[in-house]
Amino acid sequence: MEPGDTAVIDRAGLDRLVDVLRARGYRVIGPRVRENAVVLDELASGAELPDGWGVETAPGYYRLRRREDRAVFAHSAGPGSWKQFLHPPRRRVLAVGPDLEPEPDPAVEAPVRSAFLGVRGCDLAAIAILRRVLGGGAYPDTGFTARSGGLFVVAANCTEPGGVCFCASMGTGPGVTDGYDLALTEHTGAEHRFVVDVGTEEGAAVLAEIGSCPPAESEVVQARESVSAAAGRMGRSMPEVDIPGLVRDSRDFAHWEDVAARCLTCGNCTMVCPTCFCTTTEDVTDLTGDHAERWERWASCFELDFSYMHGGSVRRTGESRYRQWLSHKLGTWHDQFGSSGCVGCGRCIDWCPAGIDLTAELTRLAEEASGAGS
Ligand code: SF4
Ligand code: SF4
Repeated sequence: MEPGDTAVIDRAGLDRLVDVLRARGYRVIGPRVRENAVVLDELASGAELPDGWGVETAPGYYRLRRREDRAVFAHSAGPGSWKQFLHPPRRRVLAVGPDLEPEPDPAVEAPVRSAFLGVRGCDLAAIAILRRVLGGGAYPDTGFTARSGGLFVVAANCTEPGGVCFCASMGTGPGVTDGYDLALTEHTGAEHRFVVDVGTEEGAAVLAEIGSCPPAESEVVQARESVSAAAGRMGRSMPEVDIPGLVRDSRDFAHWEDVAARCLTCGNCTMVCPTCFCTTTEDVTDLTGDHAERWERWASCFELDFSYMHGGSVRRTGESRYRQWLSHKLGTWHDQFGSSGCVGCGRCIDWCPAGIDLTAELTRLAEEASGAGS
């Protein structure tokens, strides 16, 4: 086996994949059912994978459903993304006191290599964005580079897009093209099998340890066709306009007021987004004042404090905060990082309590720009 080769494993092979990765010292993280959702969590074995579970998604709506087959990866994005393992929501960066030395970040001092199992194209693109934003530049985030270093990626080509997915129109899915060690395409016909594409030498070595069969040509063709067909079944799409230009030139459009009337400024969209990376720090002391800690936590541009500057917040209205989020994500992100900040995973749509849908909002803005809007 070598990069570029293709093989086939069965469902038991997937269990062996988890076992082999764990035996090689990886912390294996993958999908499992917990609290009425498919979440990402550390896996002790392949038996914890969500066999036979699917999801129904719509704006402000996410429900688990039982499937008629035993598919493992036939669920679209859940509430958590891989970001939480590379860029934790909350971490202590410093602890000081009379008897304490500042504590180092364990992720930097003793990093644990992670293996991500079941990464879709959209989320693989999001990881690539985080690598550019947090791991690139003159001052990379050492915690992020330690957590993402040596990452083993088992990608899952998507054959079951959800109702709020639009990765095809963002050019990030449903298939994966690079950035993986192994890529799986699931087939649940008479036999439950996975076509495996080998991306790296390490992927080849892991696959050799699992054991695999050569694929029939028809099986590979069927796998490729099922991924291509998924592109045509996306629940949503972005309007085909110059999106950075649209958000740049729409500052005074009436539609922002319309969104603001619905938006609760709760920040859910930024918390579930796999590419939002902003953080803030908080200092806390105990009651005696002997010990102090500094914590880093995710921040949201929907918080009033996010734009607090010498005496007040610059973005006081929900309208200005929503416009900031969308304008950065879809517009100025290109100037800063060379791509869109949106990968089309749809999480911000189904986890928005108001059911606000950025593809619909962009469409309304495009209509207003063309004179067709209200
Ligand atoms: S768009 Fe939705 S999720 Fe985002 S802040 Fe507004 S109400 Fe919350
Ligand atoms: S903006 Fe929404 S659809 Fe785009 S990457 Fe973030 S959560 Fe996914």
